[in-house]
Amino acid sequence: MAIIEIQKLTHEYKEYDEENREREVVRALSDVNLNIEEGSFVVILGHNGSGKSTLAKHVNALLMPTEGAVYVCGKNTAEEADSWKIRKDAGMIFQNPDNQIIGNVVEEDVAFGPENVGVPQDELSERVAMALEKAGMEAFRMESPNRLSGGQKQRVAVAGILALKPKCILMDEPTAMLDPSGRREVLNTVHELNRKEGITVLLITHYMEEAVRADRVIVMDEGHPVMDGTPKEIFARVDELKEYHMTVPCVTELAYELKKAGVALPDGILTKDELADALLKAREDSKEQSGADKA
Ligand code: ADP
Ligand code: MG
Repeated sequence: MAIIEIQKLTHEYKEYDEENREREVVRALSDVNLNIEEGSFVVILGHNGSGKSTLAKHVNALLMPTEGAVYVCGKNTAEEADSWKIRKDAGMIFQNPDNQIIGNVVEEDVAFGPENVGVPQDELSERVAMALEKAGMEAFRMESPNRLSGGQKQRVAVAGILALKPKCILMDEPTAMLDPSGRREVLNTVHELNRKEGITVLLITHYMEEAVRADRVIVMDEGHPVMDGTPKEIFARVDELKEYHMTVPCVTELAYELKKAGVALPDGILTKDELADALLKAREDSKEQSGADKA
C-alpha cells in the first residue's frame, strides 16, 4: 500500500513586488507522480535546486500544491484540518540540528511534541522513554542538548518524532552538517527503525553513499524525478548520474570504468568489498576460461 501518494504535483514559488504584482515565478516542481510504499526506505537524490526540499515540504503539509495533490496516509495535505495529523504521521527532520532543539534537557525536548498534541502526563514519560531507547539516546536523558555532538542532536530530533508514534519519517539532508561518524550514527539509527519498527523512511540527501542501503532510489533533476530504481539499478547508470550532476562513489565509478575496459564485473557495485569479491571472481573465471582454451 502506498503511504504517500503524489499526483501530478506542480509547485510554483511566486515573488511579489511592493505593489503586490507578481514579479517572478519559480517552478520548483513540475508534474510529479510518485507513490511511496509503506515500510520502505526511499532515498531521494538530486543536486542543489532540483526540488527535493520543496517535495519534502509538500509531504509535511508545509506547502500547498499549485496543481495536483499529495496524500499522506490517505489524507489530502490541502485539507487544513488534517495538517497536524499529517505532521504527526510523517514527522520531518531538518538539516540543522540546532534549529530543532527546544528543551534544556534531552527528555524535555523529546516530550515537547507529544505534550503539544495533548498526550496525557502518565503516558508522556512512557513515550519519551520508548523514543529515547529506540533512538539509542536513553543514556543522555538528563543531559543538556547543547553538550551533545551533531549526530547525537539529530538522534534526539529523531526521538522527538518517534514520541509522536509516526508511520513515516521524512529527513531533509539530516547529515549535511555532521562529520562522517555523526552521519553513520544517524543513518544506522533510521535504518534500524525502518527494519525493526517498519517505519517508512524518506531520506533526502546529496550523498550518493547514503543511498546504498535503500530499497529504492529516486533521482530528481529540475523539479522532476528522472531516475527511479534499486540502488544497484541506479548506480549502474554512471554516465546518466553524472549528467544530473551527481557525484558517484569512487568504488562505483572504478567498477564502471573497469567494466567498460572489458573486465567482467556485475552492474552497480556499491562497496569496496563487493568490488574486491567481483574482481577475484572475474580473475578465477578468466583463469578457468584460459584453462579451457588450452585443453
Ligand atoms: P533542493 O532542496 O533540491 O536544493 P529546493 O526545493 O530548495 O531544491 O528548490 C527548488 C527550486 O525552488 C530552486 O530553484 C530554488 O531556488 C527555488 N526555491 C526554493 N525555495 C524558494 C522560495 N522560498 N522562494 C522562491 N524560490 C524558491
Ligand atoms: Mg534542499
